[in-house]
Amino acid sequence: MSTPTLAVWKFASCDGCQLSLLDCEDELLAVADRVRIAHFLEASSDVLPGPYDISLVEGSITTPEDAERIQRVRADSRILITIGACATAGGIQALRNQADVDEYAKVVYARPEYLSTLATSTPIAAHVDVDYELHGCPIDRRQLLDTIGALLAGRRPALPAHSVCFD
Ligand code: SF4
Repeated sequence: MSTPTLAVWKFASCDGCQLSLLDCEDELLAVADRVRIAHFLEASSDVLPGPYDISLVEGSITTPEDAERIQRVRADSRILITIGACATAGGIQALRNQADVDEYAKVVYARPEYLSTLATSTPIAAHVDVDYELHGCPIDRRQLLDTIGALLAGRRPALPAHSVCFD
């Protein structure tokens, strides 16, 4: 049986959730023994072609190009996991959803006419089917490792139904 492949994808985000994965150090090396990291530009420029067994997706959809790219990522991924508040809920960049994005762009950029952006920041699940969601800003790295470990062992990850304490 061939070694399962793992891909990590970035959309609109601060990279903090990917850094949580890189922070895992020894644990990541242990995972690397059981999985082939095929696409993780934050860690290596080496890229293997898909399809990929597990894709981790960080970030929200904020541009027309990314709205198309996530479709290709989904088509190339057997299991797709969104990681972090940007990917699962739109992130801080979703503040634009209640505002006029053109007005924001004029305030922030000297030449806003060069921007190609959507009026909203939306979670990945608004665009494609998502198999699992890991919440948090950033994500809990132990939960991420447990999720990857369970999937590699052929088990369903034990994830909470929600990540907010209502007590
Ligand atoms: Fe960064 Fe938080 Fe978004 Fe993760 S969820 S990419 S830590 S802003």
